[in-house]
Amino acid sequence: MIKEFLELHGEYHDDKYFKDLTTARMGGHIAHFVMPENKQELKVIINYLKSNRIQFKVIGNGSNLICGESEYDGVVISLKKLNAYEIRNDEVYAEAGVMVPSLASQLAKQGYSCLEFASGIPGCIGGLIYMNAGAYKGSMSDVVLEVEVLKDGELIWLNNDEMHFSYRRSILHDHPRWVVVSARLKLEKKDPAQLEELMADRLRRRKETQPLDKASAGSCFRNPENDFAWKLIDGIGYRGYSQNDVCVSPKHSNFIINEGNGTAQDYLDIVYQIQEKVKEKYGVKLVMEVEKFNC
Ligand SMILES: Cc1cc2nc3c(=O)[nH]c(=O)nc-3n(C[C@H](O)[C@H](O)[C@H](O)COP(=O)(O)OP(=O)(O)OC[C@H]3O[C@@H](n4cnc5c(N)ncnc54)[C@H](O)[C@@H]3O)c2cc1C
Repeated sequence: MIKEFLELHGEYHDDKYFKDLTTARMGGHIAHFVMPENKQELKVIINYLKSNRIQFKVIGNGSNLICGESEYDGVVISLKKLNAYEIRNDEVYAEAGVMVPSLASQLAKQGYSCLEFASGIPGCIGGLIYMNAGAYKGSMSDVVLEVEVLKDGELIWLNNDEMHFSYRRSILHDHPRWVVVSARLKLEKKDPAQLEELMADRLRRRKETQPLDKASAGSCFRNPENDFAWKLIDGIGYRGYSQNDVCVSPKHSNFIINEGNGTAQDYLDIVYQIQEKVKEKYGVKLVMEVEKFNC
């Protein structure tokens, strides 16, 4: 019944695994996976799932998720097909599934400053807005004008203030069933060569300092106030620590990487050990930045 409905409203699969949909490459089978082609289909799907009390999870590029091995018997909705964008004078309209690194690079080529800070963040517009993702002292809240949200069955626009952005948070954390559908971001004209050089330089630095060739969900912990998570992890001697196929990266100790067949269980075991030892030694509670799901 669910399957027949979803097949009518998007590209449907019942053979997907979280490990194929997340950058950490962990996680078990998903009972129902669907990719709506447009926002009307998304709206119909979500309204149906809500009124039938069927659990669902919306994902972007899966770059902030650690997923468990057990079967997820709800519906995973990928927004990867909502991937249109359009430059309109001094703003860009982008759908939730647009990949940010490629949009950042397209904008820079045309001399638009907007997403340079995010060019190394491997997520989609919707995921970056959800997280208020950021780097190099910039974050999505600096560039968002308005966000189109599917809220209680209706599409509405929320302005920057109404998104309640704060450090790696937005109003969406308080409303996990709302969905970002698209956004308007502000643009500023700058020299394309300078923008591209800045982004290339930052990517070079990321490659030098982060294990970008390994499967991960990015930084595992938030940086505590006036400190760095990696320093505290180094301080308890966990750089390079491993359990089965999961390892604290020798290159950057706030990245916990999957060397092959790593599981969320191994990942979380390491997380809890680090949290306990850091608390014991420094009295600091490290808070996870990555989200665990279905585990
Ligand atoms: C190598 C690497 C480097 C990284 N560097 C950074 C960095 O510098 N700064 C930083 O902030 N993060 C960084 N990250 C983490 C991650 O890329 C960001 O958190 C990003 O915002 C996640 O986007 P996503 O599309 O992959 O979201 P997903 O991982 O798919 O989802 C994350 C959360 O957002 C929700 N979500 C996704 N799309 C929507 C939507 N349309 N509507 C409502 N909710 C939605 C999901 O339900 C989930 O709860 C890094 C990750 C990696 C792997």
